[in-house]
Amino acid sequence: MQSDIFTEDFKTEPYWWEKSPRPRLRKTAVPEKIDVAIVGAGYTGLSAALVLARAGRSVVVFDAEDAGWGCSTRNGGQISRSIKPGYEQLTRRYGADTAFEIIREGSRALEWVTDFVASENIQCDFAVPGKFTGAHNQAQFEAMARAADHQPEGLEEPLEVIPRAEQHRELGTDAYYGGVVNTSTASLDPGLFHQGLLERARAAGVSVVTHCPVAGIEETAPGFRVKFPGGSVRAGNVLVATNGYTGAEAGWQRRRVIPIGSYIIATEALSPDLMDRIMPTNRMLGDSRKVVYYYRPSPDRSRILFGGRVSASETNPLKSAPLLRRDLIGLFPELENVRISHSWMGFVAYTFDTLAHVGTHENIHYAMGYCGSGVSMSGYLGMRVAQKILGLKEGRTGFDGISFPTRPLYTGRPWFLSASVAFYRWRDSFNR
Ligand SMILES: Cc1cc2nc3c(=O)[nH]c(=O)nc-3n(C[C@H](O)[C@H](O)[C@H](O)COP(=O)(O)OP(=O)(O)OC[C@H]3O[C@@H](n4cnc5c(N)ncnc54)[C@H](O)[C@@H]3O)c2cc1C
Repeated sequence: MQSDIFTEDFKTEPYWWEKSPRPRLRKTAVPEKIDVAIVGAGYTGLSAALVLARAGRSVVVFDAEDAGWGCSTRNGGQISRSIKPGYEQLTRRYGADTAFEIIREGSRALEWVTDFVASENIQCDFAVPGKFTGAHNQAQFEAMARAADHQPEGLEEPLEVIPRAEQHRELGTDAYYGGVVNTSTASLDPGLFHQGLLERARAAGVSVVTHCPVAGIEETAPGFRVKFPGGSVRAGNVLVATNGYTGAEAGWQRRRVIPIGSYIIATEALSPDLMDRIMPTNRMLGDSRKVVYYYRPSPDRSRILFGGRVSASETNPLKSAPLLRRDLIGLFPELENVRISHSWMGFVAYTFDTLAHVGTHENIHYAMGYCGSGVSMSGYLGMRVAQKILGLKEGRTGFDGISFPTRPLYTGRPWFLSASVAFYRWRDSFNR
C-alpha cells in the first residue's frame, strides 16, 4: 500500500457518512402479521414503504446491514434522465410507442426526485448544476454533437455542445476533445437524501429492522411467510428491493441482475483557487468512455469525488484508491501530490437488456436493475410499486410488460465480467 497518498484520517467508508453516519436504529419486535414486507432499506425500499405507510398499510422494511448501507449512501449523487439504450435501439426492440414511454420514465424519475426533495423539505444539498460529458476522442465528440442536434421529437434534453477550444470554461483539463453540457442534470448528497427518506418513512409509521437478513420468502396463499434469523412474519405483499445485493432469498431476480462493483474516492480538501481552476463550475462530470469515469466537486466545493471502474475483476477500496488517483491526475496534472481521504465501493445492478425492471414474479414485487443510474429511478420506481400494491392506476410505468431477461446457466455470479470490462476498455482506447 502506498501510504503517502492517504491522509492520516483516511477511511475505507463513503465520504458521505461523515455528515450522515449510519443510523443505529433501536431494535423493534416484528409483529406476527403485517400488510407489506420490504427487503432492502435503500431508496427503493424506503420510498415504497413511505407511500404504503401513508396510505395506512402496516410495513416492515428489513435490511441485512444498517439502513442505507448499500448503494443508496455510496453513490456519486449525480441525477440524470439516463436510460441506457437509446430511443432507436428501444424502437427496434419494442416499437416506437413503448420506446417513447420508456425514455420518458427517465424524465419522470428526475421530476419525481426534484418535487419530492422540495415537498418533503429534505436538506440534502439538492441542486441542478447540469453535467459536462467530455469526449475522449474526436470521433466521440462528433458523434455527441450529431446526437445533440438530432434528438427524438418529444424527448429533447437541454444540451449544449462545447467545442474543445471552449472546454476550459467547463473543466481545467486538455484531456477531452470538447463535450456536451446537459443543463437538466441534478445533484445531491446521497447520504443526506437517504437520511431524509428514512426519517420520513419512520415518522409515517414504517418499522425498519436492520441487521436482519431475510432468508426466505414462501408463498402461503393468501400472502407470504417471510423468514429471518430467529423468526418469521406473515405479510400480504412482499417487495424485493435489493438491487446489486440480491441474494438467494430472491433467486429468480438474482439470476437477472449482474452485480458490478463501482469504485470511488474523495480527495483531501483542496484550496479554493485550485478548485476554481480545475472545476470552475458545480457541474456533474463524466466522459464518453464505455468504462466511464464519473466525478464532481463535493457539495461544499472543498474536494473532488472521482469514481469509475479501475480493474477488470473486483478489488477492494485500498487497491482501487491509487488506481483512481492515478487516473484523476491523468486528467488534472496539477493534482500530482493530492492525497485521498476516503475510498469506497458498492455493487450496482446491471441487467442483460440495460433497462431497469419493475414487476412481479410469483406474486412477489420487485424493482431493480438501475444500471448505475438509480439515484432518482430507484425512489421513483419504489413509489410506483407501492401504488401498484395499493391497486392505483398511477402505478403504471413505461417498463410494465417488458420481460426481465436472464441467460442460460447464469446464477448471479458474473463470471464474464472481467472479460467484458477488459474488452470495453480496449475498445475505449481506440478512436471510435
Ligand atoms: C460507487 C457508486 C456510485 C454511484 N453513482 C451513482 C450516481 O452518481 N447516480 C446514480 O443515479 N446512481 C449511482 N449509483 C447507483 C445508485 O446508488 C443505485 O442505483 C441506488 O442506490 C439503488 O438503490 P436501491 O435501494 O435499489 O439499492 P441499495 O441502496 O443497494 O439497497 C439494497 C439493500 O438491500 C439490502 N439487502 C440485500 N439482501 C438482503 C436481504 N436478504 N435481507 C435484507 N436486506 C438485504 C442491502 O443490505 C442493501 O442495503 C452509484 C452506485 C455506486 C455503488
